[in-house]
Amino acid sequence: MAEIREIRKIERERASIHSHISGLGLDEKGKAKFKADGLVGQTEAREAAGIVVQLIKQGKMAGKGVLFVGPPGTGKTALAVAIAKELGEDTPFTTMNASEVYSTELKKTEILTQAIRKSIGVRIKQRRIVYEGVVKDVKLKVARSRLNPYAVMPREAQIVLATKDEEKTLNVGDSIAEQLVQLNVKKGDVIWIDAQTGEVSKVGKAKGFEGAKTYDIETIRQVDIPTGPVKKEKETTITVTLHDLDLNVAARNISITALFSFFTEREINSEIRESVDKLVKDMINRGEAELVPGVLFIDDAHMLDIEAFSFLTKALEADLAPILILATNRGITKIRGTDIESPHGMPLDLLDRLLIIPTRPYTADEIREILKIRADEIDVHLEEKALETLTKLGVEYSLRYSVQLLEPSYVIAQRNGRNVIKEEDVLEASKLFSDFRRSVEYVKEYEKLLLK
Ligand code: ATP
Repeated sequence: MAEIREIRKIERERASIHSHISGLGLDEKGKAKFKADGLVGQTEAREAAGIVVQLIKQGKMAGKGVLFVGPPGTGKTALAVAIAKELGEDTPFTTMNASEVYSTELKKTEILTQAIRKSIGVRIKQRRIVYEGVVKDVKLKVARSRLNPYAVMPREAQIVLATKDEEKTLNVGDSIAEQLVQLNVKKGDVIWIDAQTGEVSKVGKAKGFEGAKTYDIETIRQVDIPTGPVKKEKETTITVTLHDLDLNVAARNISITALFSFFTEREINSEIRESVDKLVKDMINRGEAELVPGVLFIDDAHMLDIEAFSFLTKALEADLAPILILATNRGITKIRGTDIESPHGMPLDLLDRLLIIPTRPYTADEIREILKIRADEIDVHLEEKALETLTKLGVEYSLRYSVQLLEPSYVIAQRNGRNVIKEEDVLEASKLFSDFRRSVEYVKEYEKLLLK
């Protein structure tokens, strides 16, 4: 299961540009607040999305999907992320661009099947023996690395873990010591150490723990100080996707020689999927697992072709279907693979099943607020003028472009010995990095010169 968590971590990294979004930011009546849960503006689309979330929770979205229609950079992906968040923290969310179905190695239907199975979660209940408690003290012993004399590596650690009823000193080896460093475990943190695997999880910060120092992550969840013995049996849940399980079973069944081609071509045969489905069904029947339908988001959906559309339409009807959210910025256009023109380049029988939500371009005020949120999220500080210049660039080019300039501007500021981004840093970053419209103009100019 440790490998599965690794895979999930990488997938999550991919979505990190939307990491500030924790929900749709609606009040009890479903009305959008201007700025809440990391979202800004786009109020009607957010309210429509809120209704979709309610329909999903009531089981009334079966066989249906959502289509966001609006210009690029109007938050379609951001809204899809917010819907997934509203459905629950462990709801799988898969994002792909429609062009990804055109691969030389894999069939379109295989790519879509993988995307669908990445978007269906299985919440597995596990009984584990864990050490659980508040960290009262932690001492690390480090050693110099033989390969790199400048690096020090945690070798062992002594941790004092306490509950309300017991205090225990644990002497642990290098693997746990390394995790303590990676997770930045400090006095006052509540941690679990899996007695079998040695995996460490930071659960939160103990409420009212005396003697705790300051915390890097101020928002860390406050949890009650655990009770009972430090070593105990715990029921825990983890969520994996059907695709994680497919990969796991496939990797186990495969010979070493076949392993290489498996990981390059990644085609999973149907027997493996059937065996995973059976395994999951059995676990559900035994009360050890439950299904978590997630969200599959496909951007630039007009780039799918008729074959992909019919596959998706069928998939919507299956017993085990994720919530399908498509997005496009096209009006009437040909359905790929046919001569038929249709709204958004999509077959009518699919369109009939979609709830369509329009998104509109952002105002300068909205762009400014989004930039502030993103700057906070990646922990960079902006001077007022720098924020204004970035906002202007966002209006002139795109929100995405101005958000993306934050990190390079920060690098430039740091090179100039500052921790705060000034206007000059933003201007330099925008000179060094082009948005795609400017880069196209540049290439056009260059072509003219060559043709002379
Ligand atoms: P689209 O899918 O329509 O092209 P997007 O959701 O990918 O748009 P980007 O243009 O990539 O949006 O947005 C850049 C950044 O702004 C991202 O970090 C995104 O999460 C954020 N963002 C977009 N819309 C909003 C919003 N309404 N509120 C807060 N953040 C937003």
